[in-house]
Amino acid sequence: MKREAGCAGFPHSKGGAGMLASAISLNEHGSDMPAKIHQFPCLSDNFGVLIHDPETGATAAIDAPEAAAVEKALKDTGWTLTDILVTHHHADHTQGIPELKARHNCRVTSPRNEAGKIADTDATYGEGDTVKVGSLEARVIDTPGHTAGHICLVFDKEKVGFFGDTLFSIGCGRVIEGTPSQMWESLLKLRALPDDIIFYCGHEYTQSNIKFALTIEPDNPALQKRAAEVDELLAAGKPTLPQTLGAEKAANVFLRADIPSVADAVGMSGKPAAEVFAEIRARKNKF
Ligand code: ZN
Ligand code: FE
Repeated sequence: MKREAGCAGFPHSKGGAGMLASAISLNEHGSDMPAKIHQFPCLSDNFGVLIHDPETGATAAIDAPEAAAVEKALKDTGWTLTDILVTHHHADHTQGIPELKARHNCRVTSPRNEAGKIADTDATYGEGDTVKVGSLEARVIDTPGHTAGHICLVFDKEKVGFFGDTLFSIGCGRVIEGTPSQMWESLLKLRALPDDIIFYCGHEYTQSNIKFALTIEPDNPALQKRAAEVDELLAAGKPTLPQTLGAEKAANVFLRADIPSVADAVGMSGKPAAEVFAEIRARKNKF
């Protein structure tokens, strides 16, 4: 993976405090035309992401938090929007769809279990499906919990994941429509993916997530390392995502509810992991 020099140096957005847009190329198996990814700030703390297939020219927006920010990203990259791949129905992930659909006539693919709540849906997907962006192919994983129909996308060949509001760096989505057990099962699916997956998510929440995580695992060296790294990134005006899944597994307390020391830390030694997870999530809600 290499940084794209041509896409460096985007200005700060007013709302996206400390977030710089970034673009990277994902070059698997020495392909001449690796997928390109462009991340940019939207709204107050959302991330927008475009994934582009140079071979066919196809470009997908992962969610559409804000039409103007997506338009600017398209202008900055010179890419043409062909697809919007939606992770879940919340407004901060979908409100840009009607305007983008009207302008680009792009195909909108929404989670099967919540397509009725998402305007302009052309196609739906769910667990076990694959979705194409030109010649790129993503696997769809159902990850209910934050919403009942939330999906995550994994581009296996490119080793990149889009986890929406299910997994944040050092955090996870609030359990709004599902149960804590459902959310834990969803996080286990993501945790089972290879360590070298690089993942993107819906929000820049990393620093506040770290403050909370340190109340449970103050002595976790991977968390301490991530805390120092995030301080540095934010001080330099850079986003804290994407992140490698391997590093995340070691540092994110929400992925560690089945580790005895974590259960001990919340006074739940020997309790089932889903219950420990529920306790950690409840504490975060009050933090
Ligand atoms: Zn959401
Ligand atoms: Fe969100």
